[in-house]
Amino acid sequence: MLPKIYVTQPSMPAFEEYVKEIKDLWSSKMLTNMGVKHEELELELKKYLNIDNISLLANGHLALETVIAALGLSGEVITAPFSFASTTHAIVRCGLTPVFCDINYDDYTINADKIEALITPQTSAILAVHVYGNICNVEKIQQIADHYHLKVIYDAAHAFGVLVNGASIAGFGDASMFSFHATKVFHTIEGGAVACRDRNLKLMVDRLKNFGITGQDSVGYVGGNAKMNEFQAAMGICNLRHISEVRLKRKAVYEQYQKNLSCIQGIYFSTPGKNVVSNYAYVPVRFEHFRDNRERVVDKLVAENIFPRKYFYPLISNYECYQGQYRSENIPVAEDVAENVLTLPMYAELELGEVDRICSIITDM
Ligand SMILES: *Cc1c(COP(=O)(O)O)cnc(C)c1O
Repeated sequence: MLPKIYVTQPSMPAFEEYVKEIKDLWSSKMLTNMGVKHEELELELKKYLNIDNISLLANGHLALETVIAALGLSGEVITAPFSFASTTHAIVRCGLTPVFCDINYDDYTINADKIEALITPQTSAILAVHVYGNICNVEKIQQIADHYHLKVIYDAAHAFGVLVNGASIAGFGDASMFSFHATKVFHTIEGGAVACRDRNLKLMVDRLKNFGITGQDSVGYVGGNAKMNEFQAAMGICNLRHISEVRLKRKAVYEQYQKNLSCIQGIYFSTPGKNVVSNYAYVPVRFEHFRDNRERVVDKLVAENIFPRKYFYPLISNYECYQGQYRSENIPVAEDVAENVLTLPMYAELELGEVDRICSIITDM
């Protein structure tokens, strides 16, 4: 049996590079609480993402919960059910009500034309997801938000480093959340960030991630603990040095899949959006009337020790913990895509020959 190929594999710096990066920590004994590595990574990421303010957090999910709290949202938040659990969980765990909106067929992001019909006097925000690094209709969403005085948060967990018309993905809406989990394009083992243009919002996130502490002897807010530690930040500093090389390798993998599969009847790739420089985070393909269906493709690949993932299935609105609880009528596209999509193995070190092998297992069915 050939070695197992999983849907992803983290990019790692050389062992020696990481060891060199963390060496100082043995003399400084500053292991967390916004130390020098944390400061350096924040600075580097502000440059890389071309954004005025970044706050680093322990993980992406806590970044999302913390920015929701920092914005002081209330009532209902319009979001898409085609995402990872974290997106809706963050809304609900902050005591808010998610309202599910349908998605587009071509990029799987929230269908901006269906948002307005879901707005009520209780709506306070739109939480949209740049699914697979495909870009939401940021202009339309901002227009709606301006008109109804709503906040906009982007779950940009998949979109690290993506550019739209030359502009950084981090600059849209009131804030963007990034995940630096080991499975993401850029990682700090576990980790995350909030990016925003408003300095005061960053300061609020900074306080809320550290127990709401406002000074030596003062605690002004009911915060939690969501700080990124120095070992995480050091991993980020190392990984950021290699990010452009990682992106190029991923691009080659993506293009190899496209070369092999994009002309096959019944197999559809998603579109990243107009004038987008992609980060090639995932290879989502949709099987519509292809052989039998997705399940057969999965079985065939698993039999060959290849493990794709049904991201995102089931829809969040169909989770046991949410079923029937929130408004989620009229989401036929999300229902359809969740039934037919499969994310194929994608990581920088995946060899193109392996991509060919994965593709021929699919096409030879
Ligand atoms: C990974 C992910 C998150 C959560 O990030 P963590 O760093 O794992 O907490 C949130 N939303 C989406 C869409 C994700 O893929």
